[in-house]
Amino acid sequence: MALTGLEIYKQMPKKNCGECGVPTCLAFAMALASGKAALDSCPYVTEAARENLDSAAAPPIKAIKFGKDSVLGDETVLFRHDKTFYHPTTLLISVSDTLSDDELNAKIEEIKGLEFERVGLQYSIDGVAVVQESGDATRFAKVAAVVAEATDKSLLLLSSDPEAMKAALAPLASRKPLIGAATIDNYEAMVNLAKENSVPVIIKADGLDALEELVVKAQALGYKEFVLDPGSRTPVDTLANLTHIRRLAIKKKFRPLGFPVVAYTSKTEPMEEIMEASVYVAKYASAVVLKTSKKAHLLPLMTLKQNIYTDPQKPIQVEPKLHSVGNVDENSPVYITTNFSLTYYSVEGEVETSKIPSYILPIDTDGTSVLTAYAAGKFEPEKIVEAMNACGIADKVKHRNIIIPGYVAVISGKLSELSGWKTIVGPRESSGIVSFSKSLT
Ligand code: SF4
Repeated sequence: MALTGLEIYKQMPKKNCGECGVPTCLAFAMALASGKAALDSCPYVTEAARENLDSAAAPPIKAIKFGKDSVLGDETVLFRHDKTFYHPTTLLISVSDTLSDDELNAKIEEIKGLEFERVGLQYSIDGVAVVQESGDATRFAKVAAVVAEATDKSLLLLSSDPEAMKAALAPLASRKPLIGAATIDNYEAMVNLAKENSVPVIIKADGLDALEELVVKAQALGYKEFVLDPGSRTPVDTLANLTHIRRLAIKKKFRPLGFPVVAYTSKTEPMEEIMEASVYVAKYASAVVLKTSKKAHLLPLMTLKQNIYTDPQKPIQVEPKLHSVGNVDENSPVYITTNFSLTYYSVEGEVETSKIPSYILPIDTDGTSVLTAYAAGKFEPEKIVEAMNACGIADKVKHRNIIIPGYVAVISGKLSELSGWKTIVGPRESSGIVSFSKSLT
């Protein structure tokens, strides 16, 4: 079991120097116990104390890295609003080794095409899970090699046969794939293979009790780069297992289950599969293996993932600089908005639809929307004038008109006074921009 704050405090240097970022050793010990501080922040911990405190300092869910840049686990809270979630669920598309060469190539091309841009952010699918279903070790190794050659995405190799895994893994170990699964029948061979190649391995057992037992056995082999699979393959059971594992790891600091968890979708109808995967992304899968590789299916899932894994204290923002939409010239209208991504891109989308090349100047409101920014004093005429001067808009257009959101019509008088520009009150919602823009011509 993890140590309590007071138990940790007994081993602290008790200098109360504050160099760790909190004023006292007791406060630091409490933060350490709750997984909100790292032992390295205190430069005065003795080696003996460090050894004793290792388990207390470890995060409640171990961080497991694999592939290109996939990081699983290392979460510290149950709910995003408690703090934040750190490592977005890794989404992997499964590729069976029973596919023909043509089917395999087509699947790989489809996976490579899964690139999206949304609210100014680029995102793509994270990895490919090569699944041995053929029973043929040579074919499994070949498919893994073809996938690895064709894409730099993170790899998950899935086979219950340690010999097949060994053959597939040997040429790919430098790609650091995640391998699996180690079960009660093969865990010694599988864990040792992972250990020899320094790659993480999935530990799979049916149910949490069996999983705990297997993790303890696997750890006794001197390795602990694990990802857990509680064996469930229905949405209800999987959700229950994911929730129990997260609660036990975070609330009880139950170390045998303090590892990231992988979930597999069971549904074959694509929309049902995406709904199922959405549940796992929300609670609490570190990685989800899916079947569908269609863009239209995956975009909603990736959008959900992106939303859940943004820091609630740091709204997504666009750069507060002058943006142009279309071939702007000296007659182009100038829209003022905030730098909250969703607000900005709603405005940009409507301006684009209006087909009138325009400038948009998002004011730095710390990523808040128009009304929130106004209420917080972040969308004031002084600030808008400052941004207008900084971006040099006066040199880019010959007119002297700016359009502000209808919700802040109240600032129009002062804004005109301070800027010397005519302030036009635009629509309240961005959806009104297209019809509003016709009044400008
Ligand atoms: Fe105590 Fe170490 Fe923090 Fe100083 S840096 S207050 S000694 S825990």
